[in-house]
Amino acid sequence: MSIERVAIIGLGLIGGSIGLAVSEKLPKVRTSGWDFDPDVRRRAAERDLVQEVCENAGEAVGNADLVILCVPVGAMGDAAAAIGSSLPEGAIVSDVGSSKASVAKTLAEALPGAIVIPAHPVAGTEKSGPDAGFADLFNHRWCILTPGEDAPQQAVSDLAAFWEGIGAKAEIMDAEHHDLVLAVTSHIPHLIAFTIVGTASDLEDVTRGEVIKYSAGGFRDFTRIAASDPTMWRDVFLTNRDAVLEVLGRFSEDLTALQRAIRNGDGDTLFDLFTRTRAIRRQVVEQGQDDARPDFGRKDH
Ligand code: NAP
Repeated sequence: MSIERVAIIGLGLIGGSIGLAVSEKLPKVRTSGWDFDPDVRRRAAERDLVQEVCENAGEAVGNADLVILCVPVGAMGDAAAAIGSSLPEGAIVSDVGSSKASVAKTLAEALPGAIVIPAHPVAGTEKSGPDAGFADLFNHRWCILTPGEDAPQQAVSDLAAFWEGIGAKAEIMDAEHHDLVLAVTSHIPHLIAFTIVGTASDLEDVTRGEVIKYSAGGFRDFTRIAASDPTMWRDVFLTNRDAVLEVLGRFSEDLTALQRAIRNGDGDTLFDLFTRTRAIRRQVVEQGQDDARPDFGRKDH
């Protein structure tokens, strides 16, 4: 891998985790970073998220051969503008945004002539900020690269090797396909969690505190996802609108079919679906994408 100096713009959960993973797994690679929030910069320095926390974006990227934008999707344009005039010739610019087609367009417009290779590590938690990152976040998780047709092959290989060096498995995909796949596997599940937690909280008056008290019945697993960062998720839905609306249409039809089955006492339909979904859970665990321990290994108090 020919990447020796990485600059990270945005030192929250994902940016901080990349910095920590590099120092643990790629000790020869130098890291610098910048975040527009001075409190985040101070905390990043205290936690050694990167070797050099810089006072401005230009300083952070000045010597980099790879720059990774780790800011909310809606802030990618501003972050790209902040590095534009200081970007070294030949540096690769990548990002970690959760939607890809719109980010690719934003970065291509903001950085004409630069080598831009968007990417998305499919790894995360519901936490955010400079205290949330950890070095093992990407272990055995996929990182999807969505290079445009004009991206140099060597740069794509170098970026894939970088992600593999910090523990991830790299995959190449078309940006539109990424957005559809992630709408199914991530964006709609989050939307459902936000909805059910919102509905339950609206019903809290009726249930007099029982929603929280009896949450171990299933609700609490939705609350983990629904605690995710509001800025990040607002931006995901605004930038992956078409794919989300397409999958949401299909989901609404399936929900209506279940509603009909329940109303008609059609136990076979319910049983068949639940048998199918149980098998999917087994596959997720078998492929190492979750923990098979009861309650996801969580301690019960
Ligand atoms: P985060 O913890 O909130 O970190 C983002 C950081 O970027 C914050 O410190 C933020 O400061 C800073 N920032 C915002 N605008 C900026 C700008 N224009 N220039 C420089 N810094 C800026 O968020 P995250 O979870 O790491 O998410 C970062 C990106 O990763 C998002 O695009 C998200 O879609 C993607 N992603 C997230 C996950 C996940 O599970 N969280 C997983 C995969 C990919 P303030 O907080 O002060 O605004």
